[in-house]
Amino acid sequence: MPDAKPTPAKALSAPQKALHKLGLTRDIDLALHLPLRYEDETRIVRLSDAREGQTVQVEGTVTHQEITLRPRRQLLVTLDDGSDTCTLRFFSFYPSHQKTLAVGARVRVRGEIRGGFMGRTMMHPAFHAAGGELPDALTPVYPTSAQLPQAYLRKVVASGLARADLSETIPPELLGSLQRVVHGTWTLRDALRYLHHPGPDVSLDALEDRSHPAWQRLKAEELLAQQLSQLTAKRERDALRAPVLRTAPGGLHEQLLAVLPFALTGAQRRVGEEIARDLARHVPMHRLLQGDVGSGKTVVAALAAAIAIDSGWQCALMAPTEILAEQHFAKLIGWLEPLLAPLGKRVAWLTGSQKKKQRTEMLGLIASGEAALVVGTHAVIQDQVVFQNLALAIIDEQHRFGVAQRLALRSKMGPLAKEGESSPERRGTGFAGPQALPLDGLSGDAQRASDGGEPHMLMMTATPIPRTLAMSYYADLDVSTIDELPPGRTPIVTKVVSDQRRHEVIERIRAQVAQGRQVYWVCPLIEESEALDLSNATETHAELSQSLQGVLVGLLHSRMPVAEKKAVMSLFTSGHMGVLVSTTVIEVGVDVPNASLMVIEHAERFGLSQLHQLRGRVGRGAAASACVLLYTPPDGGRLGETARERLKAMAETNDGFEIARRDLEIRGPGEFLGARQSGAAMLRFADLATDGHLLDWARTAAAQMLQQHPGAAEKHIARWLGSKAEYLKA
Ligand code: ADP
Ligand code: MG
Repeated sequence: MPDAKPTPAKALSAPQKALHKLGLTRDIDLALHLPLRYEDETRIVRLSDAREGQTVQVEGTVTHQEITLRPRRQLLVTLDDGSDTCTLRFFSFYPSHQKTLAVGARVRVRGEIRGGFMGRTMMHPAFHAAGGELPDALTPVYPTSAQLPQAYLRKVVASGLARADLSETIPPELLGSLQRVVHGTWTLRDALRYLHHPGPDVSLDALEDRSHPAWQRLKAEELLAQQLSQLTAKRERDALRAPVLRTAPGGLHEQLLAVLPFALTGAQRRVGEEIARDLARHVPMHRLLQGDVGSGKTVVAALAAAIAIDSGWQCALMAPTEILAEQHFAKLIGWLEPLLAPLGKRVAWLTGSQKKKQRTEMLGLIASGEAALVVGTHAVIQDQVVFQNLALAIIDEQHRFGVAQRLALRSKMGPLAKEGESSPERRGTGFAGPQALPLDGLSGDAQRASDGGEPHMLMMTATPIPRTLAMSYYADLDVSTIDELPPGRTPIVTKVVSDQRRHEVIERIRAQVAQGRQVYWVCPLIEESEALDLSNATETHAELSQSLQGVLVGLLHSRMPVAEKKAVMSLFTSGHMGVLVSTTVIEVGVDVPNASLMVIEHAERFGLSQLHQLRGRVGRGAAASACVLLYTPPDGGRLGETARERLKAMAETNDGFEIARRDLEIRGPGEFLGARQSGAAMLRFADLATDGHLLDWARTAAAQMLQQHPGAAEKHIARWLGSKAEYLKA
């Protein structure tokens, strides 16, 4: 029934507020708010036919009513439907209950049948006076919140469904292929009407596992919206301009290759070329570089930076933690600074803990363009940071950054670059060296190498993204993969060990240190949490210092002052410290090739990709390396199923892609999405683990639809994503 009551333009009522909180603001949002399950009120069951555990609707006459006080105050009502009787039991009740359920009244009652020695019982059944027509469809039960009564929600969803514009957005030439993949000719309108109010003879299984064609149609539409929005984002970006960056003969790129202490792996060369090709276009690069821990992404980043610098532009490299930024800094300085010096260029760095004086100096270098490369943490995107001409932004461990931060970095291109309005022919012409710098913001000089816009973006991650995820959430990204480790690495042997054998592990540490090797010991928290009883890094540090006499055991945790962290880290990096006990601050990026043993305490509390990242801290040199996953089962119990699966996966494989696949299986997509992890961006209906065929269809269809039916595409995106569309593009 269409309910055309207009919403009055006054303050929102409590249920309306609750609706907004659930994101149910438009008619279409309500129409797309689908039931969790259904109740069957279409028929009346004879009590004698009802099985225990079944939820049924019965109709009968009240033959008895009483309030008892033992064992608890309760209202007991006996209902007789002619075939049998049933006791209705209410622990909380109102006078209205007693009135409707008075002896002699005919009532319709719905609830779960329970057995028991007193005969059939229903606890707190729903009831109303008998009579009235039976509905001809199942009754939907919607996901809701405490402030939003189910009955109210049913009403507004029904009217939203009636009002919503559900006209076909999918063009006729795509309907054939859609019907083939969803196995049915359902329109969106049919599918939604059906899913909200399915007929009584429906197969509830097919509705529940969402294999029913109506569900399939809905999921295909949702995936199509996601693909369209990402493809639109990509097209929009393709229309933007970015500086053309190329290597210069005899330039920094060439020189850097010459001074590297190793030869690039085939994979590094390949991804380096992919990146170089992107940089040489006047369209902003938007590329994800994925490669397992230790696969050598840093040098690829450095080479990309060298290309930007060769073209007379600045490059920024942002890392999620100060320690990681430092490491990059150390590496990059070692490689690049000697090469930059003759060009009058420097490397600048920016971190939160920097002294004001130093920071001011760095900001000056960045603004003047003297700093060709800027390395740092989130500090890089703060307002005071003004680049002279940023052309390339590299984000390491991109999943640890939020969308807003990424957008902020993109907007940092620099005032000079932005102002320039040279013609497209000029764009990227004078890129051959520092003299090609945009020299003067006022003159309108052809020296300005770009008409501004966007820097190129390179995002790096050690958490490989499984194919279906890459195709859906990251459809707008180009992906480069380093699928090969540098030569000479010995595979890491992983052992899962009970904490009861902790002393053996300590013996093993002693042996490693005696051979001149170094050891990491990672703990999950820094302070004893009474609730979780996690071991305390400080305590472990004391314990190890005690039992490993003569070995320097260090401690690193996130609440330490940065200077202290750095001091500890440098003792470990230089090899003076044998054992480093730490919380997960070392999770990413730390590179100490001499470390050969990684112990992870309470490994059962870590996520799979986090474990894999931690393990990647060892096995970076030629020495045989090992990872010990110490687990502590709950008192007298066994580890939970997921924890066991995770540890097993770790012991069975070192392959980041395999780990990622299993993680997707165990945990669902959340873990991988990182920056996009916001619930807003998640798929509601489609499940990437089962709906690959729908995703394939959506990908092809999206490209065609955007090309030939841009209006319909826009309508489809708005319908499905509404205000979330912008967010998905970031
Ligand atoms: P990640 O991909 O995890 O960031 P890194 O860039 O930190 O990996 O590289 C891991 C280690 O491998 C570093 O010590 C790095 O210098 C070294 N490395 C990188 N590429 C090669 C190569 N082609 N041959 C030998 N060692 C390499
Ligand atoms: Mg790294």
